[in-house]
Formats: sequence, structure tokens, C-alpha cells
Amino acid sequence: MDSFDSLEVCVLASSSKANATLVGTGRTRILVDCGLSLRELGRRLASIGSSPAEISAIVLTHEHSDHIKGLPRFLKHHPVPLFMTEGTWEEVNEYLGASASLCEVVDVESEFSVGDLGLLPFAVQHDARQPVGYTVSFGGLTLGIATDLGHVTEEIKRRLEGMDALIIESNHDPELLREAPYPWVLKRRIEGAYGHLSNTQAGELLEHLSLRDYARLQVVIAAHVSENSNCPELALETLREHWNRSCRGYQPVFAAAGSKAPTELFCIRSIVEMFDDERYGVSK
Ligand SMILES: [Zn+2]
Ligand SMILES: [Zn+2]
Repeated sequence: MDSFDSLEVCVLASSSKANATLVGTGRTRILVDCGLSLRELGRRLASIGSSPAEISAIVLTHEHSDHIKGLPRFLKHHPVPLFMTEGTWEEVNEYLGASASLCEVVDVESEFSVGDLGLLPFAVQHDARQPVGYTVSFGGLTLGIATDLGHVTEEIKRRLEGMDALIIESNHDPELLREAPYPWVLKRRIEGAYGHLSNTQAGELLEHLSLRDYARLQVVIAAHVSENSNCPELALETLREHWNRSCRGYQPVFAAAGSKAPTELFCIRSIVEMFDDERYGVSK
């Protein structure tokens, strides 16, 4: 496969401890969030044939520590532009010290580009200053990233329609959350309107999206899956169950991101192109 034609995505880590996702093309590679230590990030990037030196920018979803705690060291060794909303900037600029000069503030609903990637931040409902999700586009392909959201708004649904790949939060199972070893106040936060999506809420969002454009979505990655109040199998089972209600037999690839190892590196290509390759026998 020619990587210059595909949109690459690999969730390097996803949990309440650390979050980082690699998104790229054959020419540009960026990180969405930087919650891993530089050493661990390097180890995980190496496992998919990449390295921190290849990263040309970082975009942030919000300021919670599981999304930013690897930043100071990363930026000290690899000073790349760092994109975020104004509210996130207000929360992180002191933490970044001298590296704060690398920050670039972006407007919600305003597209910007890094190399050959187009990025559009959209508002999500989460207990941070100005949190966002992103759609990332390249050559007619689009990836939607929606984690850390307490509930799904009409705007979020609209933004995620027609994606080729989707990273969707599927944080907890409400019953397991009730039994989890958390203080009551934390449980209230997680399941509240500005906390995290349950498996069922994620499933309902996916069902809505499948009704709109079921044959385009190639990869669905469940993310921010709780280690105490969920498990990857349960998250995926719920997503599949909702998908199957309206998919008319078409199945994308389902994967769950976790805290201990990266997902595989998914290379998303245009479905029309894939069919052409098959027909003419040039699929690699
Ligand atoms: Zn988080
Ligand atoms: Zn958060």
C-alpha cells in the first residue's frame, strides 16, 4: 500500500492515566494529546516504525493531566508547534514554562492545517476550560476524534457524520461504575453531563452515525475505556450491538484502545480506490 494515499491512525495510549494518538500521512505526522512520558512515547512510536523526531506538531483536546503530562519533556527535546483552544492555553501556558512560546491558539469551528492534514476543532461537553474534539482530513478522507465528553450534542453528531474512521469514547459500564472502588463524588463526576460517555451513550452515537452513512466508516476505535468500570470486550460488544441495528450487514473494523499497548497502525484509504485496486488486480 502506498502510504502517501492513506490517512494513518494509531492510538498509542488511551485511559484515564495517559492519552496520545498518532495521526499522519506519508508526509506529516502529528500527535493528538501527549500524556505519555517521552521514553514510553518513543517506545510505542518505535513499535509502529515511527519516532518522536517525526512528529511535526501536537494538538490538544484539553488540559487534564492525562492528556498533557508528557508535554514539557517532549517539547524540551522536540520543540514543535502546539495547537489548542484559548481556554486550554490559559490553563497550560504556565505549566509549559519556556515552551509556552510554541503554543498557537486556534478557534473552535475554524479549520487549520499542519502539513497536508486539515484539522477542525469542535466543542465537546467536558469539565475542562474549553475542551474540543477534532476532525482530521486528508485527500478526501476524514477521521473523527471524540473522547472526554459527558454527553452527545446535536453539534457533535453533525460533526462526526460521514467519517472514514472514528475514535469514540466508550468509558464505562454504569453497573460496573457503581461497583468500582472510587469515591462517590468521582462516580458522580464520571457519569455526569460533563464527565465521560458510557458504552451505551457511545453505542447510541454510533447507531445515529450508521443510519446517516453506514457504508463509509472503515474503522471504529473505542477509547478512554476505564480499567476499573469497563473492559474492552464489553465496550466493543455494546458498540457492535448498536451498529448492527442499522448497518445492513456492512461491518467496519472494531478495535479497543488501551493503556498498556498501542492499537495497530490503521491506514485508511478511499473505499472507491480499494475497489478499483481489486478490480484491476493491483492491490498490495
Ligand atoms: Zn481524559
Ligand atoms: Zn478530561
